Amino acid sequence: MSMKTTILTGDRPTGPLHLGHFAGSLRQRVALQNDCQQYVLVADLQGMTDNGSDPQKISNNIPEVLADYLAAGIDPSLTTICLQSSLPALAELTMFYMNIVTVARVERNPTVKHEIVQKGFARSLPVGFLAYPISQAADITAFKASMVPVGSDQLPMIEQTNEIVHKMNSLLPEPVLNHCKALLSETSRLPGIDGNAKMSKSLGNTLLLSADEETIHRAVNSMYTDANHLKVSDPGQVKGNIVFTYLDAFHPNKTLVAEMKAHYQRGGLGDRICKNELEVCLQELIAPMRERRATYIQDKGMLMGILKKGSERAHEVTQNTLREVKQGLGLPIL
Ligand code: ATP
Ligand code: MG
Repeated sequence: MSMKTTILTGDRPTGPLHLGHFAGSLRQRVALQNDCQQYVLVADLQGMTDNGSDPQKISNNIPEVLADYLAAGIDPSLTTICLQSSLPALAELTMFYMNIVTVARVERNPTVKHEIVQKGFARSLPVGFLAYPISQAADITAFKASMVPVGSDQLPMIEQTNEIVHKMNSLLPEPVLNHCKALLSETSRLPGIDGNAKMSKSLGNTLLLSADEETIHRAVNSMYTDANHLKVSDPGQVKGNIVFTYLDAFHPNKTLVAEMKAHYQRGGLGDRICKNELEVCLQELIAPMRERRATYIQDKGMLMGILKKGSERAHEVTQNTLREVKQGLGLPIL
């Protein structure tokens, strides 16, 4: 058996991927795929939990997300890319876990609580949406993952997963499920280009990995800086200044960014120069991904082939875990 650390992460195919995914998770996945056993799940079932009436939105975005993965440097010969809805063990494990999690517990999950308000669900909250952390626990544990590279919005999901692992294992004659740890990147919560909420597909405040030059230019131009930094000679605020948040997240030269921050804070550095520096850096980061992606998205057959091959491999792994759980629960394996 390989001693490599097993990683599971995923994305909801609710739209093409953006810089938040890149900073919060994708970058780490690319770095880790050489040394770890990595699975990346296209979470179409989870995507449907808040898009129940618009399933085409989810199915249409599956190839989009796949093209983004490849463009960002996920290598299918090193990483197993698979589709949630083609892995029945995930849904079955969810059914078992639902019996050991209380409604009170899912209602207390701070990310879900926040999303319910943000999406204005009230009494029309889909049951599946409330339960998605349980299904996510099934995803992580089915692969026996011990590390999950995610943004900080996912911390409550990891906590809940570990509670389920503990409870489930205690019901089995010997432990089957693994505990897991979140692996947070340095930018574990990238704000949107509007500077307000987390950059998120559902909020329309994104800069996509496929953004064209003009869109990048306009996005940087529209960013708020420090509202009190009126004259170039005024001392400026760096904290909460979205241009510096992005420079921190994406500029390859950390020393230069540190110098710019010091200069801005003591006064004498204009917003224009900071924005120009950011724009150049984002144009250089995004252009090669955009170009690779444009080629990949032409070949949907190739993309779906990768997904099929990965899902076949993932099917074996997840069915194994399901069988161990069923056996542990004393159920006959027919
Ligand atoms: P949706 O709006 O449909 O929920 P999303 O943009 O939030 O989409 P997800 O598919 O939910 O994207 O998230 C996939 C992964 O990317 C998760 O690990 C999440 O933590 C990470 N991620 C998403 N947005 C950000 C962000 N702005 N900063 C850091 N990490 C992020
Ligand atoms: Mg999300």
